Amino acid sequence: MVQQGQIDHLLQETGEITPPPHVAAQATLQNYDETYQNSIKDPEAFWESVASELDWFKPWDKVFQWDYPNFQWFLGAQCNITYNCLDRHLTSSTKNKAAFIWLGEDGTERIFTYGRLAQLVNKFANGLRAIGIGKGDRVVIYMPLSPEGAIAMLACARIGAVHSVVYAGFSVGSLKDRILDAQAKLLITGDVGYRRGNKVDLKGIADEAAKDLDCLEHVVIWNREKDLSKVDPDNTPNIRDLSASREIDFDELLATGDIDCSAEVMEAEDPLYILYTSGTTGKPKGVLHVHGGYMVGTYYHFKTFWDVKDEDVFWCTSDIGWVVGHSYIVYAPLIAGATTVFREGAPDFPKPDIFYEIIEKYGVNVIFTAPTLVRMLMRHGDDYPKQYNLTSLRFLTCAGEPLNPEAQRWAYQNICGGGEWGYLVDNWWQTETGGPCLGTLANMPARPGRVGKPLPGAELDIVDREGQPIEEPNKGGILVIKRPFPHFFRTVYGDPDRYAENWNTIPGVYVSGDVALRDEDGYYMVVGRADDVLNVAGHRIGSAEVESALVSHPSVAEAAVIGKPDALKGESIKGFVTLRVGNDPSDKMINDLQQHVRQELGPIAMPSEIEFTPTLPKTRSGKIMRRLLKARELGLDPGDITTLED
Ligand code: AMP
Repeated sequence: MVQQGQIDHLLQETGEITPPPHVAAQATLQNYDETYQNSIKDPEAFWESVASELDWFKPWDKVFQWDYPNFQWFLGAQCNITYNCLDRHLTSSTKNKAAFIWLGEDGTERIFTYGRLAQLVNKFANGLRAIGIGKGDRVVIYMPLSPEGAIAMLACARIGAVHSVVYAGFSVGSLKDRILDAQAKLLITGDVGYRRGNKVDLKGIADEAAKDLDCLEHVVIWNREKDLSKVDPDNTPNIRDLSASREIDFDELLATGDIDCSAEVMEAEDPLYILYTSGTTGKPKGVLHVHGGYMVGTYYHFKTFWDVKDEDVFWCTSDIGWVVGHSYIVYAPLIAGATTVFREGAPDFPKPDIFYEIIEKYGVNVIFTAPTLVRMLMRHGDDYPKQYNLTSLRFLTCAGEPLNPEAQRWAYQNICGGGEWGYLVDNWWQTETGGPCLGTLANMPARPGRVGKPLPGAELDIVDREGQPIEEPNKGGILVIKRPFPHFFRTVYGDPDRYAENWNTIPGVYVSGDVALRDEDGYYMVVGRADDVLNVAGHRIGSAEVESALVSHPSVAEAAVIGKPDALKGESIKGFVTLRVGNDPSDKMINDLQQHVRQELGPIAMPSEIEFTPTLPKTRSGKIMRRLLKARELGLDPGDITTLED
């Protein structure tokens, strides 16, 4: 949770970086002010014109309908997002263009043209149909970052099944909760994943999570461990030993399918995917996106914000386990017919300069990454970027967490040649928004420490707790969205009340959960969360989730966790734990509790510090006051403590 001291510190940062003239000159969106105003004055006309650039099986009868807090876009229209990702490119020269360039951590390279990708998606989609998966069925995908992971997503969408990708860094408890909540019929997993040369036993985790789950009819397993440089997925299936009767080999399922599979006709508002993210309760929320509006909005921002041209090579360093990977590794780049690089494993392994080597080797023009990665490169020093020719890089973009000015300036100087060839900007969004809402365009001056301005179609504001707009420049308030755009999420799967909560906390607006401020010129700064959600290395983790994992350990009576500033990861997790009577604090206990959280939720949620305490500060109504723990930890003013019980 943001504290005033943090805001004061950030406001000391002033100054601007002007966009390099050649970058600004070729920016797709040349008239931001006018476009933005039009998009807010008449959002229906604005989005309708974007939608008409895409292929629909049947046009809409009505553009937008709002039954607050629920809404629909492109009512009556029929489409399938994969038709726009694949089929529409097969009649032009794009068919033979690289859609995906996938790189393994071990140096393996696999390139898939649009034509080939369409065949593989169709084959796997037919395979899914053959095992009884159809429209509306939920499929959990627990795969390493791989073309097969993307093929699994696209194949589900192709036949109208709803995918729910679970990041392969999550562990047993997280995976199990998500399968159960989605009542998934199928789990698609890999045997192993690779990170820093180590194998992660995904199959072992999947087995543990899936055992006793009656909803699952089949488990499909992709054999990642084989030498991928030597295999063609459908011609040389490498079938693993299957231990349980419900298990099916991924390659075998793919090999049996035909290369033609017509896309299921979907209503624009039919669900495309569920992606679980952290909220303020211990239960992750299943954010639901739909086929029609999502394809329109994510595509628009890919063309106008990321500014990717037909001949560009785009690299997104995220993972298919996060919303960024859904929107900007898989769906939007394919809709736009772009070439996308993505890479398995850690970004500084097997060597610290692999990031630069890839830019040079593939002539990467546009990158979408996270501040954590930029800070990591900064740590490795100025010498590495000097050893490579990075001049292809025109536009480097970051999102996921605050981009600190020091990292922004360092990367601008060292990776973008101080503007000689490239430019570096920030953008803000959430799993719920599907695509960016705030950002600095390629032809807009960047203000380090500030994200930028509202992007076309996004009507945002900063308000106080009563919903009154805060007009005063540089005064912190709650960042809200005033109107849903097409790629905004439709509901929380199975929990419409939780969806409505976001729109009813402050009536009339969607509360993002972030604290932000705006300067005289309309540039927004997003400072951090207003609630108890943590952001570790750009990944959202609920304090309540970590606390409930800690409390599920038999020695723990109570726990509270806070985020602490971390030079690399943005935030690190510290847990305060009260032990049950009969248990004593010790280093072994700290280690046991850390391993327990790791096992339950995954390595990203593991507290890096644990402190034992006989009691925790609580309100009179019994709520743990994490704010006080954080203030003490950071040496900040604790603020109002009148509600403190003891
Ligand atoms: P997620 O839904 O996992 O993508 O996390 C979204 C959250 O990440 C937002 O609510 C913010 O707290 C944070 N976030 C994303 N982008 C930025 C950014 N550019 N600056 C500051 N915080 C960000």
